[in-house]
Amino acid sequence: MKNIYGLTLNELEQEIIDLGEKKFKTLQIYDWLYKKRVSSFDEMTNLKKELIEKLKNKYSLEPLEIIDKLEDTLVSKYLFKLKDNNKIEAVLMRHDYGNSLCVSTEVGCNMGCAFCESGRLKKVRALETDEMVKQILFIEADLNIRITHVVLMGIGEPFDNYDNVMKFIKIINEPKGIELGARHITISTCGIIPKIRKFMEENLQVNLAISLHAPNNNLRNRIMPINKAYPLEDLIKILKEYIDKTHRRLTFEYIMLNNVNDTKECALELVNLLKGINCYVNLIPYNETSHIEFKRSTNDRVMNFYDILKKNGIAVTVRREFGSKVMAACGQLRSHYEEE
Ligand code: SAH
Repeated sequence: MKNIYGLTLNELEQEIIDLGEKKFKTLQIYDWLYKKRVSSFDEMTNLKKELIEKLKNKYSLEPLEIIDKLEDTLVSKYLFKLKDNNKIEAVLMRHDYGNSLCVSTEVGCNMGCAFCESGRLKKVRALETDEMVKQILFIEADLNIRITHVVLMGIGEPFDNYDNVMKFIKIINEPKGIELGARHITISTCGIIPKIRKFMEENLQVNLAISLHAPNNNLRNRIMPINKAYPLEDLIKILKEYIDKTHRRLTFEYIMLNNVNDTKECALELVNLLKGINCYVNLIPYNETSHIEFKRSTNDRVMNFYDILKKNGIAVTVRREFGSKVMAACGQLRSHYEEE
């Protein structure tokens, strides 16, 4: 049975017509699902019994199953079990500007970044669209909040699950549904160039963040294997095209790894690489994990790096820390469970 949360408004419309029903019923159903948030078809009281039966026969409304939840004042981290027993995470962060949810897009990840816990467990499969949508629905209901921002920075590489991710964005952006503004959605990628090109053609207002983490090929090859397929000079070239076409500002994520990518030389190289590009750099304190030998940069090293970028005209921020107490680095909670 198909899970109804995986269908865009257009897709559901088509299926409702195929069931021999009037197209406008779709809006009523969407309203029950996403505005009123019912959990059964029987609660859709303005639909005829006959249509409710048809819906019951065709679609499931099954939500995600929660296995664990860790909470701190500003962060709630969820571990979910999927129907095939695979596990994924989602992390809710309470910012002063709103509630931001970090969504997983795959079970595991094949990108193999050396510092990342998610990639230690290889990709098992891509997430279905409904499994992404339901991360939002579950957590909004559980915490009784509205999520105002979504970042695709959980487990997985969003551009390795391109079609389902685009459908997910369409569904959560739908004004008749969850109605999350495109400008409040951010896709983070390690730099899969053909998918960046495709994404650029979609003409969406969605933000793009690039996990850069190194200013030259030598170092980037060592910590991010994807760089061997799509080296920095090609990545920067497509990103310049992206900015020309979309007029949108890019984010570069840069994890601070002690004595690896946080030297003065690295900072200067980064300045050269990004000069003139409409972007800002987000320096990310590394969440250490027991399985990986990288250490987080000391505060001094982060501040020196920051100063060099700033003095050289690169817009830069240091990411506020959320969840290291609750194992918030992507993949840490899941990997903890898989090991038990
Ligand atoms: N695959 C995508 C999105 C998921 S990772 C990407 O590469 O962008 C989201 C971000 O978290 C990436 O920038 C990633 O490099 C970073 N990250 C991974 N492990 C981390 C850790 N232990 N501490 C801090 N950031 C981490």
